[in-house]
Order: sequence, then structure tokens, then C-alpha cells
Amino acid sequence: MAAEPAAAVIPEAGFFPGLYTAVHAFWLAGMSCDGCSIAVTGATNPSVEDLLTGRLPGLPRIILHHPVLDVEAGERFVHWYELAALGELGAPYVVIYEGSVPDETVAAETGGYWSGMGVREVDGSPQPIPTAEWLRRLAPGAAAVIAIGTCATWGGIPAAAGNPTGAMSVMDFLGPDYRSALGLPVVNIPGCSPVGDNFTETVAAILLFLQGLGPLPEFDELGRPAWLFRETVHRQCTRGGYYEEGVFADEYGRRECLVKIGCWGPVVQCNITSRGAINHLGGCMNVGGVCIGCTMPGFPDRFSPFYKAPPGSAVSSTQVRFYGAVTRRLRRITNQFMNRETRWDEAGRVPSGWGRVDEPPAVYKLVHAVYDALRLRGADEPGRTRPEEQYAGGYEVPAVVARRRRGRR
Ligand code: SF4
Ligand code: SF4
Repeated sequence: MAAEPAAAVIPEAGFFPGLYTAVHAFWLAGMSCDGCSIAVTGATNPSVEDLLTGRLPGLPRIILHHPVLDVEAGERFVHWYELAALGELGAPYVVIYEGSVPDETVAAETGGYWSGMGVREVDGSPQPIPTAEWLRRLAPGAAAVIAIGTCATWGGIPAAAGNPTGAMSVMDFLGPDYRSALGLPVVNIPGCSPVGDNFTETVAAILLFLQGLGPLPEFDELGRPAWLFRETVHRQCTRGGYYEEGVFADEYGRRECLVKIGCWGPVVQCNITSRGAINHLGGCMNVGGVCIGCTMPGFPDRFSPFYKAPPGSAVSSTQVRFYGAVTRRLRRITNQFMNRETRWDEAGRVPSGWGRVDEPPAVYKLVHAVYDALRLRGADEPGRTRPEEQYAGGYEVPAVVARRRRGRR
């Protein structure tokens, strides 16, 4: 899973790092459900408001042009896109594409279109302008093209088997040779919907680079922010301890590992369990849902049907069940002693008014004595056990001295 560093990027002429007080962001929506827009408006670290107001030190203010959120409408809204496409904006801009890019040549065969924004005159009548066309016109002059969400990054659900639209990702649409005006290939922030913070954080990192205040963020070989997508979600899962001990849920609503009921987390790169869905809260397995691989290029076809357990989980979970059962039992013994003060061992009882705590059986005490011996091997026992550590005046609690002499701790 190790991410390869992105190829060296040399900004092209026309960009002057550090000079910008404002950067335009042109949002385009292809075949999307608007879920990415909603996810981004929930981002908190940084928030959209932080980016729009230029509240982050060193970062330029973002002037957002968004088909849903913009206060301008109609020609006044589209006017800014046109200026950018003509190279007359007079300021740098980034393109953010949400949703997959449909093959408009298919729709054109019947005189229709799949997704559009704005209109133009064709044979005397206003016709929609495909968002794919906006992307083709805006991409070359953009400081960066950022694909947000799995539809834009990999094709996603609109590109699933059987789709009639020829839907594809931004990367597929622009091709492998595409480079932005800053020299960047398409930046991909997947997820269905993506974690809003993953997007805003990446935008902030790119803007820092644009300003000459930070290095080019590290992207992997597929253009994902490497620091966000390097690890599998399984490695960060709150249920990972159950997996390791071989304890699996057999139905929804339970707190154990969900791999036996369809979780693909061990082979999926995603950070939602550690980052949370919004404001560090929620996120699939954190709230009881299995991972269906929504951040991955193979989604959805390679992960379906979602109601079946991944075939590989039968092998791994059987192995884990075997050694996990032993590990789990040994940990329970240790945990029982870690829940006791040492003086409770001496007294032979736990002075809790909340419930009866049974004394560990003799065999547990024996196992733990071995464990303690291993723990202290080659190390000093806690307390003032060496002569040089004791006070000159011989100050020591008599009971402690007596206990040590009796060979007890
Ligand atoms: S629920 Fe999924 S991601 Fe979490 S530990 Fe189990 S298999 Fe891994
Ligand atoms: S845990 Fe899986 S299903 Fe959930 S967001 Fe991540 S990749 Fe998608």
C-alpha cells in the first residue's frame, strides 16, 4: 500500500507563488447526487467558511462558484466560467468536479445530453452546455483539477456495469497526459460521499503550495492525498481489536468485527474510522455499518454483492479465530489482575461496594506469577529496592520493609 511520491512538478509560467489574495474555485457537477457538496459543507477542519473567508494564515481567499450554493444565477453565474475558459479571469483558479463524466457523444446521437450547466444558442434555440465540455475547456488553465467523490475519481456508481451513459472518471476523461497549469495531474479525493475534511484539507495544502508557503503535498500513484489514503480502514478501525481476537458479529447491531457479515475494510484504503464522517464523529464501522469499499477504484462492481462476506475473509477469519481464542483468554487473565490494586491481593478481597469481585482461581494466579516474572526480568522492581536508593536515615515505611522481607510485594 505504500504510496509512490508524485513525479516532480515544475510550475509553468503565469503562476507566481505567494502573490495571490484570492483564488477562484469553479465547481462542476457531472453525474452526481450532490452528496459530495453536502459532505464538504459539513467539513470542520478546515471548514468551507475558513477557506471562503481566507481565515487560514497565508492562504488566499477562495471565491467559490457553485451551481447550488452560489448567490448568482443564470447568465451572471455562468459568466465567470466563461471568463475563466477564455483566459480572461485575471486570477488563478481551480476546477472541482463532482460526479462522473458522461460520454456526451452517446447522448448527442439522439439529440440529448446527460448533464449540463448553462445554455448557448444552437440553430437559434438555447441548448444546454455539457459539464464535460466545461471541464475540457477549463482544465488546461486551472492551477489544479480536483476530482471529488468516487464518481469523479474513478467513475463510481454511474459507471457501474450496465450503465448506458459511458460514464467515466475525470482522470479517464482528461487522459494520462493531462497536467494543470501548475503541472499537476488530476488530484483525486474519493469516497461516496467523501469525508469533507479530506477535501478541505487537501485544498488548503494545494493552496499553501500555490502560495509558495508549503511543499507539494504527497500524492500516491493514483493522485490520492497519500497521508489520508495510505492505510487500510481496517488498520484504524475501532473494531480491529475484536478482529485480532477472532471475535466476529453474526448480525448487525453488535459491537464485534463485521467481516463475517460483509466488511471489506482489510483491503480498502480509507480514513473514515479515524477521521470521522463529520466533525470527527460517525463513520461507517464506528456506527455499525460494514465497509463496502466506496473509496476504491473497483467500487462498486468489484465489491458487490454487498450482502455477502468477502471470500478472502473466510481464510483470514478462520486463522484469526484459532490463535485469537488463545490470545483472548490469556489477556482476560492479565486484565483481571490489572484491575486489582496490589494491596487487594494482600488483603485477599476487593473492597468494592458495587459488586462482588471473586478472587482469581489458583491457576490464574500461577499464570500471572509467570507473567509478572517475565515482566520484571532484567528490570528493577517498583519502589526503593536498592540500598543506594534508600534515605541515609533509613527512612522507609516499615510495612514495606517487612513485606519485602517476607518475599511478598
Ligand atoms: S469491522 Fe471491518 S474494518 Fe473493522 S476490524 Fe472488522 S474487518 Fe476490519
Ligand atoms: S469505510 Fe468503506 S464504505 Fe465507509 S467510507 Fe470508507 S471506503 Fe467507504
